[in-house]
Amino acid sequence: MGISNSTSSQRKMSDFLIGNIKKKSDVEKKFFSLSYKFLDKRLAISNKETVSLQNEFSCCAEPNPAQQKNELDLTTNQNFVLNDSTANENGLFIPLKSTKKLYGTQTYIQWKASFDVESCFLKKNKTIYLVSINEYPSFIDDFTISFKSKNISFKELLTVFLEAFFCGKNVQWLPAVNILESKWNITSRYHKTTNKFQYLVTDFFVPLKKMKPKNGYCIMGMSWSDLYPCEDLNFVLGEASNRHKSGVFSFGRYEPKSFSESNHPEVTDIDTHVLWKLFKPLFLCPVCVRKLQHVCKFDIIQRYERLQTVIDSIQKAMPSQKWKESSDWLQRCLNFLVECKKSLPRIT
Ligand SMILES: [Zn+2]
Repeated sequence: MGISNSTSSQRKMSDFLIGNIKKKSDVEKKFFSLSYKFLDKRLAISNKETVSLQNEFSCCAEPNPAQQKNELDLTTNQNFVLNDSTANENGLFIPLKSTKKLYGTQTYIQWKASFDVESCFLKKNKTIYLVSINEYPSFIDDFTISFKSKNISFKELLTVFLEAFFCGKNVQWLPAVNILESKWNITSRYHKTTNKFQYLVTDFFVPLKKMKPKNGYCIMGMSWSDLYPCEDLNFVLGEASNRHKSGVFSFGRYEPKSFSESNHPEVTDIDTHVLWKLFKPLFLCPVCVRKLQHVCKFDIIQRYERLQTVIDSIQKAMPSQKWKESSDWLQRCLNFLVECKKSLPRIT
């Protein structure tokens, strides 16, 4: 591949990966183009033509929560170089290590093509609806945590977290549903190893869809009971149907493969470990942020600030190294983005 060809095919690939970002603000350009570096790397390794991208590339990177040894200190201006390669290779995101093919991955362009068709009637709907399925244990109902000097409940904590994550959407709870009373007719079973009661996840999509108010973007059921996807499989933490714009999520407390009665006591309290399990898939690569921003229309800096406020509140109430690392990573992203903003030329 010659130099000029490689530059033009690289641009094509960049566009295919994250879309055309010419009209984005300078801050956003800097942030989204963090993903380009991995494209270069992949190109250098594979030395193949653009077609290779289609099937093997989408989510380019994962957040790098731990400070790497040789990392530049992004918190001081001393070593900070506002340069994609520096930020990328040393700081915010690292390439996914897995050599296995990821299932169902899509570049921004691939994703957008199907999303825009499917969601053309929903784009203006700003509300994500949540609904509790059946009862929760009393320690969930009794849980409170301090947030912005106010005590909030577990559901309110979920609400502020989701409103930060899906920044730009509102989150509202509908009245709780009792499956038996509502006659939802959900298939259920007792798992043969754990003897835990489980619901068939796909049976929730239609009744949840019927419950979604007209202004709803989507609806999520939140269940304390375990879920399973089909007879042959053990369990699933949750599943959503794009067609129905509905989904259901469970707290998934039992992993049947490693289950033993003694090693799996009932969860009786919300501690930092339980909350971490719930909130840990927090941070997205620039390609996924681009997809999310297309749906939610947020300001990237504002979204990171809101996420950090939630994480810091949890860290204050239930300190743990994991929350601290998450908050530090968000701070490094914010430093990077704010530095981008500072370096913008002033309009006089
Ligand atoms: Zn991603």
